[in-house]
Amino acid sequence: MKYIDEFREQSLARHLATAIEQEADTHRIYRLMEFCGGHTHAIFRYGIPDLLPANVEFVHGPGCPVCVLPIGRIDNAIELVEQHDVILCTYADLLRVPASRGKSLLKAKASGCDIRMIYSTQDALKIARDNPEREVVFFAIGFETTTPPTAVAILQAQTEKFNNFSVFCNHVLTPSAMQAILDAPEPVAIDGFLGPSHVSTIIGSQAYEVFADQYHKPIVIAGFEPLDVMQSTLMLIRQLNQQVHRVENEYTRAVSRTGNLKAQKIMQAVFEVRDVFEWRGLGLIAKSALKLNATYAQFDAELRFQLPAIKANDVKGCECPAILRGAKRPVDCKLFGTVCTPENPMGSCMVSSEGACAAYWSYGRLRAQ
Ligand code: SF4
Repeated sequence: MKYIDEFREQSLARHLATAIEQEADTHRIYRLMEFCGGHTHAIFRYGIPDLLPANVEFVHGPGCPVCVLPIGRIDNAIELVEQHDVILCTYADLLRVPASRGKSLLKAKASGCDIRMIYSTQDALKIARDNPEREVVFFAIGFETTTPPTAVAILQAQTEKFNNFSVFCNHVLTPSAMQAILDAPEPVAIDGFLGPSHVSTIIGSQAYEVFADQYHKPIVIAGFEPLDVMQSTLMLIRQLNQQVHRVENEYTRAVSRTGNLKAQKIMQAVFEVRDVFEWRGLGLIAKSALKLNATYAQFDAELRFQLPAIKANDVKGCECPAILRGAKRPVDCKLFGTVCTPENPMGSCMVSSEGACAAYWSYGRLRAQ
């Protein structure tokens, strides 16, 4: 298949749905975690649960970078603009995430702080280039997919000898989050994983082999189109029926076993792994995030502005932490669709375009639950 609508072809979807129904053992339940928020949205956007037997369940994972960012890091960013008078460059999703004391970056912007929405790291560099008298901070978030562009921006800043550009680094690592989910004191029941699409283009499918080998969980790297998700679901069901656990790659058009070696090399040149990092919902996870290494420390906003570690509580009643662990669904939250809507979000999972609550609201709230 070459074109995107071929990956949305109804007759093929029906064929796959029939195969899943025939092969899914009616005497058991299949609980499959889709790690990525992109998969959660594809699942609901295309109505995939309606095509599957009731004993095939999706468990929504933490693969939404905005959702897993703890409130304390948003508080740090607000401190940067309020107390250090920087130009803060950020992606749009972060603007509306609730911070402590009823604040958000959007409210800080409305009160006069210089916060600029950007589409790429190159936009942030341009702003730094155009404002040599101002400190410009790029609020960097994301899994391994968005880390290489941040690394490239830092290398470029060094080449151009910027002294007014720095990065507030919040890049996190996918395998560490998977391990935290599996090692949790009260682990959520998961039979297998739909593996990330875009992240895997960078880190390759081999990054997940440890989970198949040591945790005996089958993993299928899945593309983001509906037929990708259904084909991957069938591949997981087949592994589980055969009682085998290996990494398979459904998304062969983009993912290799070793990933993007050039991107990995650039990341390794610029970043080092933090000892520990806080994730919303998953708590403190060792070796789960990146910071700038000593060579590029002059571009590290945390060092430049001496940002403190801030421990902040989630909004009362918000179930984002449990949803990100796969322990609850958005509809289990009493605030869902009442107090909390996309227009008035109480938690990050309702704000982000990859959040599970936003997916339920956009595509699933009228479904019989
Ligand atoms: S519906 Fe809103 S308050 Fe509830 S878990 Fe989702 S984001 Fe949090």
